Order: sequence, then structure tokens, then C-alpha cells
Amino acid sequence: MPTTSFVFEPQAVSSLPVFDEAGRFPVARIFCVGRNYAEHAREMGHNPDAEPPFFFIKPVTALVTDGADFPYPAHSSNVHHEVELVVALGKGGSNIPENEALSHVYGYAVGLDMTRRDVQAAAKEAGRPWETGKAFDHSAPCSALVPASKIGHPQAGAISLTINGEPRQSGDLANMIWGIPATIAYLSTWFSLLPGDLIFTGTPAGVGAVQRGDLLVASVASVGELSVHVI
Ligand code: MN
Repeated sequence: MPTTSFVFEPQAVSSLPVFDEAGRFPVARIFCVGRNYAEHAREMGHNPDAEPPFFFIKPVTALVTDGADFPYPAHSSNVHHEVELVVALGKGGSNIPENEALSHVYGYAVGLDMTRRDVQAAAKEAGRPWETGKAFDHSAPCSALVPASKIGHPQAGAISLTINGEPRQSGDLANMIWGIPATIAYLSTWFSLLPGDLIFTGTPAGVGAVQRGDLLVASVASVGELSVHVI
């Protein structure tokens, strides 16, 4: 087999460490669910009964892994934290039935959907895309993955975030509007899902601003913890 030649060296594959495994999880894409907890939809000024959750995407180059820092980004003075359960797919597919969706999951992680809230608000106001508010470099810190073969599939449990030890966000996975099987099934009607796709499943209430020097500790019961320094 002749190997493909490139006009320059391709970027390395983005990947996540896997708890207790030498091999890393190669990341294909990062999907995010918007307004998947009713209390958070309300704090953002929306009515969760009238407006269902929705999807957006971050590039894989937005990942922050292996305990790296979060550099406070340019063009914003109101960068928010959003703690989220991350679902990692080991198997792809289209039109995946809800009752088979969990068999597509490789594992779970704790993630942060970092957001330039002022930039996102201006984009909403102007009817423009969200990429500069949501999909910037370093906007997706993520913990090591824990395989579902070790912990099963979390359906309930605390999801929380502290800053410098102070509680900021607190919720329960049971309060997701779209649960994990429904999210995978519905997303797979819009995109052909791939092994390696990550889904950030939305954030509970209590989002707020971070400052340089802060230590964010995000945790999801039975999945783990993610500590990130804002520098
Ligand atoms: Mn989010």
C-alpha cells in the first residue's frame, strides 16, 4: 500500500487519556448540547418549555487535556464556565434507535464548555454564528475518559463546579431535558456519528465569570473530577 504524501506534516490527532489504559481515545468531533437543563435555560432568559435544546460544534483543536491550563482568551471580559458531562462514542451510526444508543458509548468524562459570554450575547443579538463565543482555542477542557465498561452509564448523580473552593454550579444528571440515549439518537438523525465523537451534554444552572488565577474544579458523580487553572 502506497502511503499518502502531504505537502506538509498533518496536525497530530487530538486525543484524550483513558483512565487506567495506556491507549488514548482519538477524538473525531465535539458536539455540544445547548440549554439541556431547564434551570440554566431560564437563567439565560429562555423558556425551556417553548424552546427545546439544540446542538452546536467546537473544533477538536479546542480541547485542553492532561491537566493543562486554560489561558484567558482575548476579545472578552466575561468568560464563563459551564460544567458538563461528556459522552464519548466508540461506535458511530445514523438514525441510531434510542434503545440501542448506549451501546455506542465508549465512556464518559467531565468537561467545561468555556464561553465568551459577552461575544456570544452580541452574536445572538446580531443573528450571527456563535463560533467566536463558543468554539475558540482552549474552549473545551476535558478530563480523562472513564470507560462505560468500568462505571456503566450514569443516569443520575451530582454535577457541580467550584471556583477556589466556593460552590458555583450544582445540578443533577437526572435533570437533563434530553437524556444520554435521546441525545445520541436525535443527534444521529442530523449527523452520521463517528467513533471518536464527543458530546458535551449541557450545563446546569449557576454559570458565571472566571478570572485569571482561578482554580476551577468540575465534577460529575461516578465519572470523576477536572481541575483547571485559569492563567
Ligand atoms: Mn454548554
